[in-house]
Amino acid sequence: MSIPTSFIDQLLDQTDIVDVVGRRIPLNKKGANFWCQCPFHDDSNPSMAVNQEKQFFYCFVCQESGNAIHFLRRYENLEFVDAIETLASSAGMTVPYENIRSEKSKPSGLVEKAVKFYTANLNETSAPKAVQYLKDRKITGATAKKFNIGYAQDKWDSLLNHLGADTPSQELDESGLFSKKDSRFYDRFRGRIIFPIRNIKGDFIAMGGRIIDEGEPKYLNSPETSFFNKSNELFGLHEVKELEKNITSLIVVEGYMDVIGLYEHGIKNAVATLGTAVTPNHVSKIMRYTNKIFFAFDGDLAGGKAAWKAVENTFPIIREDINIHFVFFEQGHDPDSYINEHGLEAFQKLLDESISLSSYFLSKVKEFNLETLEGRAQAASFAIPMVNKINNSVIKEIYASEVSKLCGMDIKTMHASPSPAIRQETDHVSRSSSNTPVRVKAVINIFSALLAFPAIAQEPLFDELKNNPKFDFLFVILDLYKQTPDIKPSRVIESLESDQIKGYFSEAVVEGLVLSEKNALKLVSDCMDILLKNQKDREQTLKDKYNVRSITPAERRDLQQIILKKQEITDDDRNWLEKLSSKQD
Ligand SMILES: [Zn+2]
Repeated sequence: MSIPTSFIDQLLDQTDIVDVVGRRIPLNKKGANFWCQCPFHDDSNPSMAVNQEKQFFYCFVCQESGNAIHFLRRYENLEFVDAIETLASSAGMTVPYENIRSEKSKPSGLVEKAVKFYTANLNETSAPKAVQYLKDRKITGATAKKFNIGYAQDKWDSLLNHLGADTPSQELDESGLFSKKDSRFYDRFRGRIIFPIRNIKGDFIAMGGRIIDEGEPKYLNSPETSFFNKSNELFGLHEVKELEKNITSLIVVEGYMDVIGLYEHGIKNAVATLGTAVTPNHVSKIMRYTNKIFFAFDGDLAGGKAAWKAVENTFPIIREDINIHFVFFEQGHDPDSYINEHGLEAFQKLLDESISLSSYFLSKVKEFNLETLEGRAQAASFAIPMVNKINNSVIKEIYASEVSKLCGMDIKTMHASPSPAIRQETDHVSRSSSNTPVRVKAVINIFSALLAFPAIAQEPLFDELKNNPKFDFLFVILDLYKQTPDIKPSRVIESLESDQIKGYFSEAVVEGLVLSEKNALKLVSDCMDILLKNQKDREQTLKDKYNVRSITPAERRDLQQIILKKQEITDDDRNWLEKLSSKQD
């Protein structure tokens, strides 16, 4: 699966980073930038600048930087594709995937073939017990069809024979549909009702199977494959999206039978995790499609634990515009059994009476004996780490003050740890002063000049650094400016591999030096002198080291390279090269 770069450009064009960051962290405009507390290091001062014009963020303390995609990836801990999906979804755009057959993450066509085979198997003649089971659970034919429910016969090779002997074994292996023993393949799903799992685009990527007769395990899921990642997928999400383009709310349940049972009774917006607890990826994915979420877990101990896990994984990315509620069932009930017994209206009433995330959290704090000092101390030590998980400072403040009231102590002062590595006391923390090494400053200045005058990239003045691999990054950037003089800084960042260089480039972007063309050229030439002098210093240091016989093989090679890359090689250089190579062995 790959996304065309033209789409990424278009997406970045239609996305405002101020919006993306601002929805998550409160921003203040000051000068050319918006400022906020950096979510990537522990800090109570605003050290992160968000630049609207350049569509860029940069933290002056931890140096995290990049465009809206980078921000989301780090903030919500997302894979690249998921970050793109998130931005596209809020921009109302659809991600056009390029289907490259050889790509690893493209769903195997075998899963779709298997789904067709299994659904054809689900009938009175070949699967009477399975049909009876679904009837007992009050699942109609229409619902079974909607979810492509199927049946896998209780045989070791029925799917294998159906797919034919000519299917390459690698494909069988990668599909997740077979188990392998002594290099032979066997059907993984046998004697089970099959619930196919689709990704958001509707591709069949995996399946779950419920056993019909006695046997273990009761539920079996496909293993993780290159296109199925359990902690990322939600059963039923594609089906909800089919019915509702803009999803009003989602109900998160524990099992596929809950999703299907609710659907049968008219609740058509439920999704289920796949045999895992709710992960941060799930929460972030759900928040991408709706801002009203109900967690509806089973009324047992496991359900309670699952609900708490959801709280823990929601806290870091909770936003003011997201509404989260919890529904709890009486002991022994799950969403499916509850709606079957009590009907749609009763279920609706449960949703209406569901408790909010904050009430649920505070109810947990209240479980401690707040009458005693010890109890309040325990409650505080339970609550503080949780509150500290919240990245959104407004919400964090509200939670902190509620917990403070309950525990009778100001937890805000208790959790405020001294922020590390603040270099300056002002809120415009800047690295530009004395403690930045001159070489680093030189590199940043070269970037500033390029940002102001991309045409400088054409100048021959960089050539002397050309053969030094340490400066490869500079030539990557120069090439980008040569090819596309009006390239956006956020695209330049995309092309850089080293986080350190990304940081330097970002610093230049945020600094936004105002230069005349003449001064820009002068700045570059001064900086080149510094960088080249640095190289000369290195040469001299290595030679001195050599003379006292303490040079390492790596340093020896380094020195040889420095000399070899000189534009003019003198007699002295030649002598040195000889010395260095003769002592090699
Ligand atoms: Zn930071």
